[in-house]
Amino acid sequence: MDLFEYQARDLMERAGVPVLKARVARTPAEAQAAAEALGTAVTVIKAQVKTGGRGKAGGVKLAKSPEEAAQRAAEILGMSIKDHVVETVMVTEGASIAEEYYFSLLLDRAERRYLAMCTREGGMEIEVLADERPDALLKVPIDPRRGLDEATAADIVARAGFDEADAAELVRVFVLLGEVYRDNDATLVEVNPLVRTTDGKILALDGKISLDDNAAFRHPGWSVFADTSHDDPLEVRAREKGLNYVKLDGQVGIIGNGAGLVMSTLDVVAYAGRGLTGHPKPANFLDIGGGASAQVMADGLDIILSDPQVSVVFVNVFGGITACSEVAKGIREALKQLGNRATKPIVVRLDGNAVEVGREILQEYAHPLVTVVDTMDEAARAAAELASAAMGGN
Ligand code: GDP
Ligand code: MN
Repeated sequence: MDLFEYQARDLMERAGVPVLKARVARTPAEAQAAAEALGTAVTVIKAQVKTGGRGKAGGVKLAKSPEEAAQRAAEILGMSIKDHVVETVMVTEGASIAEEYYFSLLLDRAERRYLAMCTREGGMEIEVLADERPDALLKVPIDPRRGLDEATAADIVARAGFDEADAAELVRVFVLLGEVYRDNDATLVEVNPLVRTTDGKILALDGKISLDDNAAFRHPGWSVFADTSHDDPLEVRAREKGLNYVKLDGQVGIIGNGAGLVMSTLDVVAYAGRGLTGHPKPANFLDIGGGASAQVMADGLDIILSDPQVSVVFVNVFGGITACSEVAKGIREALKQLGNRATKPIVVRLDGNAVEVGREILQEYAHPLVTVVDTMDEAARAAAELASAAMGGN
């Protein structure tokens, strides 16, 4: 999960990293009030979007009065930066910059460690620097068991060639940024630029932080970062129900148990659809996991049937710990719960533990929308053909 700059700034401030005073505004009037409250001669109005290069795109502007802050905010709000529409600005004190540096700490998955990157030549896009003058960008591997300790920070400061006069403060700031990284379970903490002001202070002027979603369970505070405004509404609903659902751009709704089975179900459905009219494709990924209850089946069917693009649902379950008989009861119960909201054909393939009983339950239930097919390939073909027929095929 990527954070907005103002959220990253807050996390850095809480850890003691020197940052500028700032306030968030959603309207020009709020920006004016923010500038008044900051009370500095110059303020900076910064677009809050989860993408880089805001400065170049005109998303960072200086203002010399609260009235001007309102005007600049009016220009920036609503602007589109790399397809991100600006809904919020951050109003900060203006800094008088002498030099711009770069520092980041990130997760190097391939090497199974962290990587610190640093250069005296900050401000510009780091990808460009890394590409054009790779020697100017210092890269230092960090052992996760040790973290960014003082000795390592001192090594980075020395090797990046900073002035002796700034060394102690830079070491202190790098260690604090290492704490931000560790304590927040981040995968990226990037400060570009880290500046030295004309009066000799070191400040994190811009901050980018990505958090490791796998650690969300131990950070209840992260719920405030949840940003569902741009997510697919079906995915949001599915998440609220605790379902592992990803919306795709097809017509065959998919429900399966186990991520591997669901992935191969997507493949066989896509394969079966290739030669058919309209080339029907999978409409989603949905893994109901092991031990799926009738409720989970009902929630899953409900989400999938709410997708207007879906014309048929393929339930593909391999009974393991959860017996097929339980899955069949789940489907029956789900259809009862859904009542007349269940409007599209459902192809069911059951195999594995208690498959005979499962099939019998569905046959006895004899719901007009449910077809039981014995093998995965045949079921995929049946589902793809139904979807194709709905698209005008035969
Ligand atoms: P980015 O373009 O999205 O990375 O946005 P930044 O927050 O890094 O700002 C881009 C550039 O604007 C910085 O590199 C600075 O040169 C400039 N800038 C940002 N804040 C200030 C400030 O307070 N004073 C001055 N003089 N320049 C600033
Ligand atoms: Mn920046």
